[in-house]
Amino acid sequence: MKIHEYQAMQLLKRYGVAIPAGITIDDPSQADAALDQLHAECAAEQFVIKAQVHAGGRGKGGGVKFSPDRASALANIETILGMTLVTHQTGAEGRLVKKVMVAQALDIKQELYAAITLDRTQSMDVFMVSTEGGMEIEEVARTSPEKIVREAIHPGFGLRLFQARALAQALGLEGTAAKQAVAMFQKLYKLYQELDCSIVEINPLIVTGQGDLVALDSKINLDDNALYLHPDLAAMRDLEEEDPAEVDAGKYDLNYIKLDGTVGCMVNGAGLAMATMDIIKQVGGSPANFLDVGGGANVETVKNGFRIILSDPNVKAVLINIFGGIVRCDRIANGIIEAVKDLDLNVPVVVRLAGTNADIAKELLANSGVAIISADSFEDAANKVVKAAQG
Ligand code: GDP
Ligand code: MN
Repeated sequence: MKIHEYQAMQLLKRYGVAIPAGITIDDPSQADAALDQLHAECAAEQFVIKAQVHAGGRGKGGGVKFSPDRASALANIETILGMTLVTHQTGAEGRLVKKVMVAQALDIKQELYAAITLDRTQSMDVFMVSTEGGMEIEEVARTSPEKIVREAIHPGFGLRLFQARALAQALGLEGTAAKQAVAMFQKLYKLYQELDCSIVEINPLIVTGQGDLVALDSKINLDDNALYLHPDLAAMRDLEEEDPAEVDAGKYDLNYIKLDGTVGCMVNGAGLAMATMDIIKQVGGSPANFLDVGGGANVETVKNGFRIILSDPNVKAVLINIFGGIVRCDRIANGIIEAVKDLDLNVPVVVRLAGTNADIAKELLANSGVAIISADSFEDAANKVVKAAQG
C-alpha cells in the first residue's frame, strides 16, 4: 500500500527522524492559517508547497514549488491545489491534486539519497545510499551504478553500527552530519522493520546550510499482508489515489489489475491468468487486465468480475478461461449465463471451460440462448477472442 508524503513524514517524526515542519491542507481557505502556524512554530519566512499524490517526480511536473515569501506561497497553493499533475509516474492523464503540504523551506547545501528495500537476489533487506540525491535514482542506477552504495542487512543482526557508519562515510559526511546520519539510518531501519514497510526512501536527504541532516522528501510503501497488524497505518489508505476498478475488485476478493490492452480476461488461479495473458500476446492481441477470480468462483464472483472488466471502455472482447478443479464448470457456466443476461453485454465473450463437469457446462451454455463463443483448447480460445476484439 502506498501512502502520501505527509503521512510518511508523520511516521518519520514518530521515529525521531528530522523532517521540515509542515502542514497539510485541502482547501485554499486554510492557507493563511497554515502559513501563520508554520511561522509561529519555526519562524518560517520561506515555504515549499508540495502536491500530495501517490506519484513521484512531482518537482519536475510543477507539483513542488519553492516560495520565497508569503505572497508566492499563497499563489502556489492556489495553483497546485486542484491542478492535474502529470509526472513520469502518473501517465499522460495525470492526477488531480486534492491536498498540498505547506512546508518550511530549508537551505540546502547538499542533496543525498537513502533507501531501504528488499533485495530479492540476496534474500535480505538492503540499505542504499547515494551522493546523487534529488534526481531519479533509476537514472543514477543506469548511468553511474557505482554511485549507489549498498549494505545488505542480516535479518538476525539488523543494521549494524559499522554498516551505518560505512554508509555515512560513503556519503562523504563528517562531523555532526556523520553522527546524525548514523543515528538516522538506524531509526530508518527500525521504522522499516517495525512498520512492515516494503520501501522507505528519502530523496533528497539533505545537509542544510547549518550542517544538519534532514529528510526532505519521503516515500514509504507498506506490505499489504502485514496491514492487519497496523490498524493505524491501514487507516492511512487513500482510496481516491487508487484505480477505482481495483478498489472495487478488492471488495469482492478478486485480484484485478488494469492493463492497457483490449481483451478482458476472467480466469481462475494466478498461474492460469498469467498464462492466459501470455497466449493472448502470442496470438497478436493484448490483455486489458489481469483478473484472478480465485478457486471458489461462483455466480456472484463471475458477475462482479464481468462488471469490473466491462467498466474499462478499452475492452473489446472478453475471454473466460476457467479450469474446474475446486470449482465445477457447470456452476461457472450458470454464473456466466446469469451475468450475461443481467449485464446487457455489448462485447463478444469467448468461453473456455476445462476440468470437472466441462461437458455439462458446454451444454448449459449451448442451450442458454445467450451469445457466447465457445472454445475448445486454450489456443482456440485465444485466437477467437483476439479476432473478436479486432472487430
Ligand atoms: P519529488 O520531485 O516528487 O521527488 O519532490 P521533492 O520533495 O523531492 O522535491 C523536489 C525538489 O524540490 C527537491 O529535490 C529540492 O531540490 C526542491 N525542494 C524541496 N524542498 C525544498 C526546500 O525546502 N528548499 C529548497 N531550496 N528546495 C526544496
Ligand atoms: Mn523526491
